[in-house]
Amino acid sequence: MDVEQQSPVTMEAIVALAKRRGFIYPGSDIYGGLANTWDFGPLGVEIKRNIKNAWWQYFVHRRADVVGLDGGILLHPKVWEASGHISEFFDPLIDCRNCRARYRADTLVEEKLGQPAEGLSTAELTTILHEANLACPVCGQRTWTDVRQFNLMFQTHLGPIEESGTEVYLRPETAQNIFVNYKNVTQTTRVKIPFGIAQIGKAFRNEITPGNFIFRVLELEQMEIEYFIRAADWDESFTHWLDEMAAFYKWVGLKQDRLRVREHEEDELSHYSMRTIDYEYKFPFGWKELSGLAYRTDFDLQRHQEYSGVDLTYFDQVNDERFVPHVIEPTMGVERLLLTLILDAYNEESVTDVNGKPYERTVLKLHPRIAPYKAAVLPLSRKPELTGKAMEIVRELRQYISVEYDETQSIGRRYRRQDEIGTPFCVTVDFETLEDDAVTVRDRDSMEQERVPISELTALLRGRLDQ
Ligand code: ATP
Repeated sequence: MDVEQQSPVTMEAIVALAKRRGFIYPGSDIYGGLANTWDFGPLGVEIKRNIKNAWWQYFVHRRADVVGLDGGILLHPKVWEASGHISEFFDPLIDCRNCRARYRADTLVEEKLGQPAEGLSTAELTTILHEANLACPVCGQRTWTDVRQFNLMFQTHLGPIEESGTEVYLRPETAQNIFVNYKNVTQTTRVKIPFGIAQIGKAFRNEITPGNFIFRVLELEQMEIEYFIRAADWDESFTHWLDEMAAFYKWVGLKQDRLRVREHEEDELSHYSMRTIDYEYKFPFGWKELSGLAYRTDFDLQRHQEYSGVDLTYFDQVNDERFVPHVIEPTMGVERLLLTLILDAYNEESVTDVNGKPYERTVLKLHPRIAPYKAAVLPLSRKPELTGKAMEIVRELRQYISVEYDETQSIGRRYRRQDEIGTPFCVTVDFETLEDDAVTVRDRDSMEQERVPISELTALLRGRLDQ
């Protein structure tokens, strides 16, 4: 079959597909939406679960040295003092006095003036932006405020009354749950250094976002590991985790040519990091961070030891040695990975069908591990003999894999719908099935069709899907 690739994917195409097919909807849609919030629909939630399951399987179940944790979103306010988030977790903001549009000052400098802005102070950013006399991208006026620092943590109050002393924060990163439970884990399990604690969970950041769909959201899900080591081993461990992250990306089908690593300059390192390398992805709006790997040293455990007064040293019985472990942290965002996987998988193709008829199709070539449905069962007509047989097959397959059943519209349209939502296999039940007890299996990517006896179908699909 002839396949002709069309032009590169745009964000507009992805946003439209996401809404049309029930992957991602604007948050609070019937109320006109709430800025930068998104809800994951029936297909989006499946992909999200598949990403999280793949991550957990790869980084926790497959390894002997990583255990899991599921900590709370609210933590003691002292945690954020100790972690440095109260004093350090700021973005520089600037407002247009005329239309009140608000921007991240560093983004304006980078994107509108084409200058690097990492590590610049508030005063330096103010000077650069005022001297450039930039027009506001919304209203065109040139009436800027000075740049101010703005803490990204969402604050709320514990208890019914908003009084001072009751403030708590929604966690801006999942890492701190791990540090505050580090002692619990070492005391209640058999972990020995080097070992890791993994967590997947929501984090909240009151970000000013430039609106690149789900690239930057206020409510994100992080998949993080804090890997506890001896200081002397940090370099080797860092390289190991960098490789593991790359291997994971390959495992979920991310295209390698849109992925690169970028080392942080010294002046852009977070307050806790001695070394950071980002994996960057080539988004339609440029190369941007997909995930990060940081050497957090013993910063967090030392600070929690100091602020809580609790001994967080590790005792190594073999060497009769006591020390505060150092930490390597691989961290990824679920939404950002989901966006890259969809962008990667999206293809518009001009193809010809089995009868030589040309047509256009949009196809999501998602890795089967990530695809929302692994197979669709499609009876050729709604005649009860066919639908009954098809439902039998669905019931059998559903014991092992997620399957969609669809009996509406023409078979061609149903194939196209499954292509758009990334279903790797379509199983068609036709009139011949009633005679030969076999079905047609269509491969999403090659569009090849083959006749398979029903008795062999489950094993064949499970084998090809590796499930
Ligand atoms: P950025 O520079 O893009 O703001 P960051 O360096 O602050 O990101 P980290 O604190 O290292 O990000 O967070 C780890 C990961 O969590 C990121 O690599 C990214 O995948 C994800 N992430 C962070 N902030 C957001 C957000 N607002 N929306 C979606 N994902 C996010």
